[in-house]
Amino acid sequence: MKKTYIFLIMIVLTTSLSAFTLKKYGEFHFEKVHENIYVMHGPIVSPDMENEGFMNNPAIIEGKTGLIIIDPGGSYNIGKKVLVEIEKISKKPILATINTHKHGDHWFANKALLEKYPKLKIYAHPQMIKEVKGGEADKWYDILDRLTKNLKGTNNAFAYPNHALKEGENIVIDGEKFIAHHPKIAHTDTDLLITHVNLKTLFLGDNVMKGRLGAFDASSSVFGNITLLEELLKNKNLDFYIPGHGISGKQVETITPYLTYLKTVAKWAQKAYDDDLEAYEVKPQAIKELTAFEHWDGFEYALGRHMMKAYDEISLADEE
Ligand SMILES: [Zn+2]
Repeated sequence: MKKTYIFLIMIVLTTSLSAFTLKKYGEFHFEKVHENIYVMHGPIVSPDMENEGFMNNPAIIEGKTGLIIIDPGGSYNIGKKVLVEIEKISKKPILATINTHKHGDHWFANKALLEKYPKLKIYAHPQMIKEVKGGEADKWYDILDRLTKNLKGTNNAFAYPNHALKEGENIVIDGEKFIAHHPKIAHTDTDLLITHVNLKTLFLGDNVMKGRLGAFDASSSVFGNITLLEELLKNKNLDFYIPGHGISGKQVETITPYLTYLKTVAKWAQKAYDDDLEAYEVKPQAIKELTAFEHWDGFEYALGRHMMKAYDEISLADEE
């Protein structure tokens, strides 16, 4: 009896010691969200030392003989921890990874997976492959290294995607069927939205965020993102939605909050433009309409930037 008790304590200790833990945020595990799909929802914040650069939603699709991983995470070190958690779900080999876009917090962890599976197929849109090899990887390395100090082992060389997946392309991996959708310009100009056909599930990349707001860089479009999300809402054939950051769920609960936020940003940017004002001058009025988002990580800072971005897009379209 006593021996059994000690044995159990040892099991508990060993399990908790090997858990993926971030001091401020607790333990991270993959949770089953939908039959053979598992997601590890990362902390819903911006990259910093405390989250070590882990903030995205790595996902597993378990096939008959192997696993397909979507966006394994933001560094080599994070990738190694994610790999340990993947192995707690299934010991099957990883056959392929699909990356949703060029931002390093989603794909730098390819490196750890490739180290273990040198023949790993890494899929991404051709524009992503072109841009990450053309300087975007280095740019993101510098950003995340500065903010998280946890990029050791990630570069030299980066684990770039090695298979291109174009708009509308279908692939079947281990009986799991995927369709790629590239919206040209939305969150970035490299986005892939991935439909897992078997379970009618859509991996949204960062075209939807829930609970935090990220950046719209020069390659992105607030209006492109709005158009994309409005299109997605019309499609009633899918059951489940997994955003790049934030909790997964059904269509409306996942897509509508971010779409409402973006449309409000666009509305007030348009109002400023029409009234010959600067975007920041209408920001207080926009804030009044966005109280539901005040608690989202990065709200105040991101809102100002997003309004300026929308304003620039309006002014550019007006010039054309
Ligand atoms: Zn992103």
